Amino acid sequence: MIQKSFLNKFVVKPGKEVHLRDLDPGWASHKDLLDKFGEERVMKLAKKILKRNLENLAEAQNLLWASDTYGVLVILQAMDAAGKDGIIRHVMSGLNPQACQVHNFKKPTNDELDHNFLWRYMKNLPQRGRIGIFNRSYYEDVLVVKVHPEYLDTQKLPPGIKGENIWRHRYSDINHFEKHLTRNGIIVLKFYLHMSKEEQRKRLLARLNNPAKHWKFSDSDLPERAYWDDYMKAYEDALTATSTEWAPWYIIPSNHKWASRTLVADILTGTICNLGLEFPKITADRKKRLEAARIQLENEVEDLAEGTMTA
Ligand code: ATP
Ligand code: MG
Repeated sequence: MIQKSFLNKFVVKPGKEVHLRDLDPGWASHKDLLDKFGEERVMKLAKKILKRNLENLAEAQNLLWASDTYGVLVILQAMDAAGKDGIIRHVMSGLNPQACQVHNFKKPTNDELDHNFLWRYMKNLPQRGRIGIFNRSYYEDVLVVKVHPEYLDTQKLPPGIKGENIWRHRYSDINHFEKHLTRNGIIVLKFYLHMSKEEQRKRLLARLNNPAKHWKFSDSDLPERAYWDDYMKAYEDALTATSTEWAPWYIIPSNHKWASRTLVADILTGTICNLGLEFPKITADRKKRLEAARIQLENEVEDLAEGTMTA
């Protein structure tokens, strides 16, 4: 069963200006629920919904694979420590590994910088029948690169391109690229994991306080955190400019991991289920051939039995 309401609840309506400070990363609309039942019970309920969604997702993925018409591109964008990895682990846990893939995008290599900025993402798009997750994406080229404009100098762009209009042009390139994808059967689902600065402080501190988590702490985490306000502005601009009818953004409250995992799984499952896919229909001719194959295999057992008796 799909919680269809979540699909509409967190979507950014195309044309709507996004103000992140007005959106509660702790899922304010469920405050009543939290006050009434306490976090423990609400968390249990969310886990139940997540489990059910993962079962439904496995079924939906099977249909996606069998009908071989649509692919799904899931884009995850967030500040450090917002829980992208945990979401990928949870969502993938119930999937057929043959039909899904994950790509992490880090700083571009020299080879990647020798191409147009969308190239490395195009190369890794999911095929029909598959779910492909982008852990960071081409949106980094209007986020981290906008926050650190000096990165543009590494991109080998021709003169005149790096002017004032570059971000507007990139939003437009992205919108057209996503239109191209959806016109070709690749559904684009974009999630921004909305976490507060204070929650990030707690999570980074937890990594430093636990030796088993030290490997998760990156030397760039604190320097990037210092640009928090610039990142929020870059996210607001990008979410506003690129939430379209064909590829809308979902802003997921992510201060509670149980909430963000449940919501992403729910929206992904709901989107695939809403495609109304069916298993491929079998023609009368094919039915006949399947029946003939069945009889042939059954007769083999009889032949084998006869062979054993005469031997
Ligand atoms: P974690 O949440 O575990 O820290 P991560 O996705 O942040 O994972 P890192 O290896 O820490 O992975 O960082 C990857 C870095 O690469 C990020 O800081 C990101 O901003 C940067 N990056 C990604 N794409 C680009 C790009 N196109 N140009 C410049 N930097 C990029
Ligand atoms: Mg990082």
